[in-house]
Amino acid sequence: MDLPWTFLLVLLCYGQLLPWLRTAGQPSLDAFYNETQAKLFLKFYEQPARIVFNEFMEATWNYVTNITKRNRRNMFQKEVERSQFMLYFGSRARLFKTDHFQNPDVKRMLSKLQNIDKSALPTEDLREYNRILTYMETTYSTAEVCLDEGPCLPLEPDLEEIMATSRDEKELLWAWQRWRDVVGRQIRPVFEHYVQLSNKAAQYNGYKDMGALWRAKYESNTLEEDLKRLFDELQPLYLNLHAYVRRSLFRYYGPEVIDLQGPIPAHLLGNMWAQSWDNILDIALPYPKKPPEDITKIMKNQHWKPEKMFQEANIFITSLGLLPAPPEFWVKSMLEKPADGREVECHASAWNFYRGNDVRIKKCTEVTIEDLLSIFHQMGHIQYYLQFQNLSVIYQEGASPAFEEAVGSVITLSASSHKHLLSRGLLSQQHQDSEEEVNFLLGIALEKIAFIPFSYLVDVFRWKVFDGTITKSIYNQEWWNLSLHVSPISGSDVAS
Ligand SMILES: [Zn+2]
Repeated sequence: MDLPWTFLLVLLCYGQLLPWLRTAGQPSLDAFYNETQAKLFLKFYEQPARIVFNEFMEATWNYVTNITKRNRRNMFQKEVERSQFMLYFGSRARLFKTDHFQNPDVKRMLSKLQNIDKSALPTEDLREYNRILTYMETTYSTAEVCLDEGPCLPLEPDLEEIMATSRDEKELLWAWQRWRDVVGRQIRPVFEHYVQLSNKAAQYNGYKDMGALWRAKYESNTLEEDLKRLFDELQPLYLNLHAYVRRSLFRYYGPEVIDLQGPIPAHLLGNMWAQSWDNILDIALPYPKKPPEDITKIMKNQHWKPEKMFQEANIFITSLGLLPAPPEFWVKSMLEKPADGREVECHASAWNFYRGNDVRIKKCTEVTIEDLLSIFHQMGHIQYYLQFQNLSVIYQEGASPAFEEAVGSVITLSASSHKHLLSRGLLSQQHQDSEEEVNFLLGIALEKIAFIPFSYLVDVFRWKVFDGTITKSIYNQEWWNLSLHVSPISGSDVAS
């Protein structure tokens, strides 16, 4: 049986930090004005935090790589322990009066420690919040759409494959709509409660709502205006791309399906969420006589395996002088969908376990160029984790949520260059002429430029849900209203 964290905590740190404990047991007010006491407090936090976080990560990992009731129970238990721990330290961090403290690092760490997110919720609310969150995640990743007389198709890989490769408008609409019917209808009844509990947690942390708490992580008072301005700057380029793609789809599907003055129907863009459009490059190619080489086919001909794809990313990253993935990574990661029939969450993610070099990736890898590039992105997260292992756990997160994502993306962008792919034997043509280069660049635009309005839309929508501007009865309607406004993309007869 596991030792309770409180016991471990005391066992580990008691001797070493007796002086602080003495005051912490019965803290006199003076202790919270004292910078040396604050330093001791932060030092005291470090070791048990690693243990508590590690146990929580292990339990979560066990659940998402083997979805069973037992694993779920265990994960919930560890989450409660982690939250109690955060609450204990967060509320004490709040007592320090830091105005006259000299060391900016101490001030910053104390202020970060105060933001305990959902751990601020009372235990019953926290349990409910975790139940809802897990229910939503599991529903999302395990939902299947069934053919009338045939097998049922999960999102990964089957439905995603249809969205990417089918050019049959009816089949695309079927996959797009049925998946939403299955997932949306199950999640919708609990989503409002999730929003309420999220806001409650945010308010305990001193924020107006959960959107405000999320935005605070960027440490900018003008985040919303800045994003709006950046988005407006991009808009002319995006609208050109949008019009060009709409015209290409019009040529392919005809006027029944595409209105040259209207929004693009979401199911035709090669992706379940219409977030990246690179899968329809074949339809939109400016110079169709010079199609890019089919790298997925080349990979398959060369008998690539998922592990080789990760090694490839590792080679690239170490060639930049960065750190290699440690031996544990290769043993403990889940690099492909298990063949033993276990139910797992396939959505790709990178994990830090707060213990030495224990970092992992979970991904149901398919041998495709998209997955190869997505692996470069995930390995960017792993690199980030490896680089911050020597820092306090308080600093073991991205400088901002966007910055951490950008590290992976910048690595992916350079890995996808013609020069690099050629050097790795994934292309055979030595040079690109200018037409091939334009084809290549359009592919990048379909992936990257198209993504920006989508991600902006997701954030603006969620902020409005959290601040109450968008209420339950108009979730769906307002999503599509915003989508029409921001990205001109429309949903077809979606379930509400
Ligand atoms: Zn990422």
